[in-house]
Amino acid sequence: MDVSYELYDVIVLGGGPAGLAAGIYAGRSRLKTLLIEKGMYGGQISMTNEIENYPGQLQEGESGASLIARMSEQVVKFGTETVQDIVKEVLLEGEIKQVICERATYKCKTLIIATGAFPRAIGCKGEGQFVGRGVSYCATCDANFFEGFDVYVVGGGDSAIEEAMYLSRFARKVTIIHRRDALRAAKSVQEKAFRNPKIAFLWDTVIEELHGEGLLSGMTVRNVKTNSLTQILADEKDGMFGVFGFTGNIPKSELFVGKLEMDEGYLVTNEDMHTNIPGVYAAGDVRKKSLRQVVTAVSDGAIAAIQAEKYLE
Ligand SMILES: Cc1cc2nc3c(=O)[nH]c(=O)nc-3n(C[C@H](O)[C@H](O)[C@H](O)COP(=O)(O)OP(=O)(O)OC[C@H]3O[C@@H](n4cnc5c(N)ncnc54)[C@H](O)[C@@H]3O)c2cc1C
Repeated sequence: MDVSYELYDVIVLGGGPAGLAAGIYAGRSRLKTLLIEKGMYGGQISMTNEIENYPGQLQEGESGASLIARMSEQVVKFGTETVQDIVKEVLLEGEIKQVICERATYKCKTLIIATGAFPRAIGCKGEGQFVGRGVSYCATCDANFFEGFDVYVVGGGDSAIEEAMYLSRFARKVTIIHRRDALRAAKSVQEKAFRNPKIAFLWDTVIEELHGEGLLSGMTVRNVKTNSLTQILADEKDGMFGVFGFTGNIPKSELFVGKLEMDEGYLVTNEDMHTNIPGVYAAGDVRKKSLRQVVTAVSDGAIAAIQAEKYLE
């Protein structure tokens, strides 16, 4: 494995909105900055086809991916170096921190953790077996596979309802399965869904098991109030349907267990993004906070970079 002998002022872990914003602010402050991302830039938001709530976002049809493309260009413009690698371990004690990745080890004076989160599994029997064969967690990626088919969406928050509306452009019918009798989504989002003639609701319901030979073609759902079970089968001529899970996120913080303070897996910071170790900051969905959105992720990233600059001074 290579050891990078460069000593960076700032290393940013993760190229989602929080990491990209940190990269822009640190680069623009003329700090020697490296951004490490394991895959494509953009993180979770690159999975969404439409982003309407990012301030200034008035362009019709702006997708997460097109917003991220502009942010990534800005990172490069301000001189932040980027590398594609997977972080395996971090050594945080002492003035020089080490980031051990699959392909190399990098050193830095300050570290901004922006490793984000990933969608929670639906949690029913057969789920793993049908991922990519009817089960999905990404409407943008998979909606077109369900053109003219029936689709079920699990969840009741903003993401679930917004993605259900997006899916309704492709699917014959979208049924939202929610374990409660009311949605958690913002009222304005709910109103749009209630007005959408292609969206139906199955309240107080959870999926128990998914069935099918190869492709997903049936499921057993349970009413949580009555405990009664119902079989739902694909339309005979379709032979399959889709289930999209939007039931929340799990933080990507396993690298920091025992090293940084956490609460239910989320990294604990103060309002200036400081973790409990000096020179180590957390930004975006990986940190404990009340609103996980692009606007709060980029704000966190900007604050973390400016705090790193102050620490270096
Ligand atoms: C389907 C969906 C729709 C959404 N719609 C909206 C919306 O309309 N508006 C809105 O504001 N928000 C929306 N969100 C939420 C928004 O996407 C997140 O709040 C935001 O992406 C968080 O940014 P982040 O940078 O903190 O983390 P993430 O986006 O999760 O990015 C983290 C990055 O870190 C990388 N990474 C993780 N671990 C490692 C490692 N070990 N080594 C290297 N790299 C690593 C990941 O590959 C990833 O690119 C949506 C989310 C989803 C899932």
